[in-house]
Amino acid sequence: MVIAMEHETVSSYLFRTEPSTGDKGFATSLSDEEKEKNHQESEQIVCRQCSHIITKPEERIQVNGSHQHTFANPSGLIFEIGCFQTAKGCGCTEQATSEFSWFSGYSWRIAVCGKCLTQLGWLFSSSRGSSRFFGLIINKLICI
Ligand SMILES: [Zn+2]
Repeated sequence: MVIAMEHETVSSYLFRTEPSTGDKGFATSLSDEEKEKNHQESEQIVCRQCSHIITKPEERIQVNGSHQHTFANPSGLIFEIGCFQTAKGCGCTEQATSEFSWFSGYSWRIAVCGKCLTQLGWLFSSSRGSSRFFGLIINKLICI
Protein backbone atom coordinates (compact mmCIF):
# COMPACT_ATOMS: atom_id res chain seq x y z
CA MET A 1 0.00 0.00 0.00
CA VAL A 2 1.07 3.55 -0.67
CA ILE A 3 1.53 5.73 2.34
CA ALA A 4 1.27 9.48 2.23
CA MET A 5 4.95 10.18 2.85
CA GLU A 6 5.90 8.34 -0.31
CA HIS A 7 3.45 10.25 -2.41
CA GLU A 8 6.02 12.23 -4.33
CA THR A 9 8.06 9.19 -5.32
CA VAL A 10 4.99 7.29 -6.38
CA SER A 11 3.72 10.15 -8.53
CA SER A 12 6.92 10.38 -10.47
CA TYR A 13 6.79 6.65 -11.06
CA LEU A 14 3.20 6.74 -12.24
CA PHE A 15 3.82 9.52 -14.70
CA ARG A 16 7.20 8.39 -15.88
CA THR A 17 7.49 8.05 -19.62
CA GLU A 18 8.47 4.77 -21.17
CA PRO A 19 12.27 4.38 -21.14
CA SER A 20 13.62 4.49 -24.68
CA THR A 21 15.26 1.20 -25.57
CA GLY A 22 18.98 1.29 -26.06
CA ASP A 23 19.44 4.57 -24.22
CA LYS A 24 21.68 3.89 -21.25
CA GLY A 25 22.32 7.53 -20.42
CA PHE A 26 20.67 7.46 -16.99
CA ALA A 27 22.94 5.33 -14.85
CA THR A 28 20.96 5.91 -11.65
CA SER A 29 17.84 4.15 -12.90
CA LEU A 30 19.62 1.52 -14.96
CA SER A 31 18.96 -1.39 -12.65
CA ASP A 32 15.22 -0.70 -12.63
CA GLU A 33 15.17 -0.46 -16.38
CA GLU A 34 17.08 -3.69 -16.71
CA LYS A 35 14.48 -5.39 -14.56
CA GLU A 36 11.66 -4.05 -16.69
CA LYS A 37 13.41 -5.21 -19.81
CA ASN A 38 13.68 -8.73 -18.41
CA HIS A 39 9.99 -8.72 -17.65
CA GLN A 40 9.21 -7.58 -21.15
CA GLU A 41 11.14 -10.50 -22.52
CA SER A 42 8.94 -12.89 -20.58
CA GLU A 43 5.17 -12.46 -20.51
CA GLN A 44 3.15 -9.49 -21.67
CA ILE A 45 -0.49 -8.67 -21.53
CA VAL A 46 -1.49 -6.99 -24.78
CA CYS A 47 -4.55 -5.45 -26.41
CA ARG A 48 -6.49 -8.13 -28.31
CA GLN A 49 -7.39 -5.59 -30.98
CA CYS A 50 -3.97 -4.21 -31.89
CA SER A 51 -1.35 -6.10 -29.77
CA HIS A 52 -0.25 -2.93 -27.99
CA ILE A 53 1.47 -3.83 -24.69
CA ILE A 54 -0.88 -2.92 -21.86
CA THR A 55 0.54 -4.46 -18.70
CA LYS A 56 2.38 -7.46 -17.29
CA PRO A 57 1.29 -10.54 -15.33
CA GLU A 58 3.42 -9.26 -12.41
CA GLU A 59 1.05 -6.31 -12.05
CA ARG A 60 -1.89 -8.54 -11.10
CA ILE A 61 -3.27 -7.69 -7.68
CA GLN A 62 -6.12 -8.82 -5.49
CA VAL A 63 -8.86 -6.38 -4.60
CA ASN A 64 -11.39 -7.38 -1.95
CA GLY A 65 -9.74 -10.79 -1.82
CA SER A 66 -9.83 -11.63 -5.51
CA HIS A 67 -7.94 -10.78 -8.70
CA GLN A 68 -10.90 -11.49 -10.96
CA HIS A 69 -14.35 -9.96 -10.58
CA THR A 70 -17.56 -10.24 -12.54
CA PHE A 71 -19.80 -7.18 -12.71
CA ALA A 72 -22.80 -5.95 -14.62
CA ASN A 73 -23.12 -2.34 -15.70
CA PRO A 74 -26.44 -0.44 -15.40
CA SER A 75 -27.41 -1.63 -18.92
CA GLY A 76 -27.03 -5.26 -17.85
CA LEU A 77 -23.83 -5.98 -19.77
CA ILE A 78 -21.60 -8.45 -17.95
CA PHE A 79 -17.88 -7.78 -17.62
CA GLU A 80 -15.18 -10.06 -16.28
CA ILE A 81 -12.35 -7.92 -15.08
CA GLY A 82 -8.93 -8.54 -13.62
CA CYS A 83 -7.27 -6.08 -11.23
CA PHE A 84 -3.83 -4.68 -12.04
CA GLN A 85 -1.66 -2.29 -10.05
CA THR A 86 -0.57 -0.45 -13.18
CA ALA A 87 -1.31 -0.59 -16.88
CA LYS A 88 1.25 1.56 -18.64
CA GLY A 89 -0.28 0.95 -22.05
CA CYS A 90 -3.64 2.44 -21.08
CA GLY A 91 -4.89 5.96 -21.49
CA CYS A 92 -7.63 7.33 -19.25
CA THR A 93 -10.40 9.86 -19.52
CA GLU A 94 -9.90 13.02 -17.46
CA GLN A 95 -13.17 12.97 -15.59
CA ALA A 96 -13.59 10.58 -12.66
CA THR A 97 -17.05 9.61 -11.49
CA SER A 98 -18.29 7.67 -8.50
CA GLU A 99 -21.68 6.78 -10.08
CA PHE A 100 -22.35 3.03 -10.14
CA SER A 101 -18.87 2.30 -8.88
CA TRP A 102 -18.21 -1.42 -8.53
CA PHE A 103 -15.74 -0.85 -5.71
CA SER A 104 -17.14 1.11 -2.81
CA GLY A 105 -15.07 4.15 -1.90
CA TYR A 106 -13.56 4.28 -5.39
CA SER A 107 -14.38 6.50 -8.29
CA TRP A 108 -13.56 5.42 -11.83
CA ARG A 109 -12.46 6.62 -15.22
CA ILE A 110 -12.62 4.80 -18.51
CA ALA A 111 -9.30 3.21 -19.50
CA VAL A 112 -8.58 2.75 -23.20
CA CYS A 113 -5.80 1.16 -25.21
CA GLY A 114 -3.11 3.79 -25.72
CA LYS A 115 -2.82 2.81 -29.37
CA CYS A 116 -6.21 1.84 -30.85
CA LEU A 117 -8.39 3.52 -28.17
CA THR A 118 -10.56 0.43 -27.62
CA GLN A 119 -12.01 0.53 -24.13
CA LEU A 120 -10.14 -2.02 -22.04
CA GLY A 121 -11.58 -1.29 -18.62
CA TRP A 122 -11.50 1.29 -15.89
CA LEU A 123 -9.06 3.04 -13.61
CA PHE A 124 -10.37 3.01 -10.05
CA SER A 125 -9.05 5.54 -7.54
CA SER A 126 -9.98 5.94 -3.91
CA SER A 127 -11.66 9.18 -2.92
CA ARG A 128 -8.62 10.13 -0.85
CA GLY A 129 -6.45 9.60 -3.91
CA SER A 130 -4.02 7.33 -2.05
CA SER A 131 -4.89 4.12 -3.85
CA ARG A 132 -5.56 3.29 -7.46
CA PHE A 133 -5.70 0.26 -9.68
CA PHE A 134 -6.90 -0.82 -13.08
CA GLY A 135 -9.82 -3.17 -13.63
CA LEU A 136 -9.27 -4.54 -17.13
CA ILE A 137 -11.77 -6.54 -19.16
CA ILE A 138 -10.20 -9.98 -19.46
CA ASN A 139 -11.53 -10.89 -22.89
CA LYS A 140 -10.16 -7.65 -24.40
CA LEU A 141 -6.63 -8.74 -23.54
CA ILE A 142 -4.28 -11.53 -24.52
CA CYS A 143 -1.39 -12.86 -22.49
CA ILE A 144 1.59 -13.55 -24.76
ZN1 LIG B 1 -5.29 -1.61 -28.87
